[in-house]
Amino acid sequence: AALKQNVVELKDGREMRTLGQGTWRMGEEVSKHDAEVEALRTGLDCGLHVIDTAEMYGEGESEKLVGEAIQDRREDVFLISKVYPYNAYGDKLVKACDASLERLGTDYLDLYLLHWRGDAPLEETIAGMEQLKADGKIRAWGVSNFDVEDMKELLALPNGDHCAVNQVLYHLGSRGIEYDLLPYMKEQGIPVMAYAPLAEGSDVKKDVFENETVNRIAEAYSASVAQILLAWTIRSGHVIAIPKAGQAEHVEENAAALLLDLNEEDFAALDEAFPPPTTKQPLDVI
Ligand code: NDP
Repeated sequence: AALKQNVVELKDGREMRTLGQGTWRMGEEVSKHDAEVEALRTGLDCGLHVIDTAEMYGEGESEKLVGEAIQDRREDVFLISKVYPYNAYGDKLVKACDASLERLGTDYLDLYLLHWRGDAPLEETIAGMEQLKADGKIRAWGVSNFDVEDMKELLALPNGDHCAVNQVLYHLGSRGIEYDLLPYMKEQGIPVMAYAPLAEGSDVKKDVFENETVNRIAEAYSASVAQILLAWTIRSGHVIAIPKAGQAEHVEENAAALLLDLNEEDFAALDEAFPPPTTKQPLDVI
C-alpha cells in the first residue's frame, strides 16, 4: 500500500511528513557507522524526509554522519539542526550555524531550532534567526523544550510568530502536553515535533512496551509495539514524531506506522491504560 500523505503544513506553506528521523547518539561509534548511514538513507527511501540533528549530538558527530548520508540527495531532505542556547545570539549564532552547515555539507537548513531556553534574551535569538533567514542559511526557525509560558513570551515579541515548530518530549507514557501546550500550539497554528516517541530514556519505557493493552492492539493489527506508539503519537495530524533508528529494519518498520489507522476504540483503550492529564504537568524533558 502507498504511504498515507500524513503531512503537516508549516506557516510558510511548506510541508513536513508527520514521521521523520531522529539522530541523537548516531555517529558516536565507529562500529555502527555504516549501519547508521544505511538506516538514514533507507528512511529517505521510505519517505521519511525530515531528519533531526543538533550541534550538541556527539559534539558534531551526528551532523557529520547526517552530512554523509545525504550528500548526494540534499533535495530529498527536510533538514533540521539545533543550536545550544549559549550560542543562540549575535556572532556566536552565525558561527554555530556556519559550523553546522559545514559538518552537514550543505549551504542551508530547512529549519533551525533553539535547543532549549537558556539565558539569552529571546529578542536576540529571534533577531539572529531572522538574519540567518535573510542570509539564506536557514529557511525557518523554531524552538524546543518550550512550555506554554515560554511560547506566550516568544509569540508576544516582534517576529516571534515566525516560530515554525516547538519540539518537545511526547509519547504514550508522557502525555502532559495534552493538557495545555498541545491545544495552545494548535490554536497558534504551530506544529509540535514529538521527541523520544518510543519513550527512550524514560522510566516508563518498560511499562509502555510491556503494557497489555498496547500489546493486544499491536497484535490485532499485526504490528509492532513501536508502530502502535508512533501511530498514536501522530494521530492528531498536528504532531510530527522523530524516532531514532540506527538499523534499517527499524526504520522500515517505523515508516510503515504511517499505514496504520488506529480507531476510536483503540484510542479509548490506550487512554484507559495511560490516562491523559487532568491537571497542569511540568514539561517533561530529557
Ligand atoms: P526514541 O524514543 O526515538 O527511541 C530510540 C530508540 O528506539 C533507539 O534505541 C532505537 O534503536 C529504538 N528503536 C527505533 N525504532 C525501533 C523499532 N521499530 N523497534 C524497536 N526499537 C526501535 O528516542 P530518542 O531519544 O532518540 O528521540 C528521538 C529523536 O528526538 C532523537 O534522536 C533526537 O533527534 C530528538 N531529541 C530531541 C531532544 C530535544 O531536546 N529537542 C531530546 C531528545 C531527543 P536502534 O537505534 O538500534 O534502531
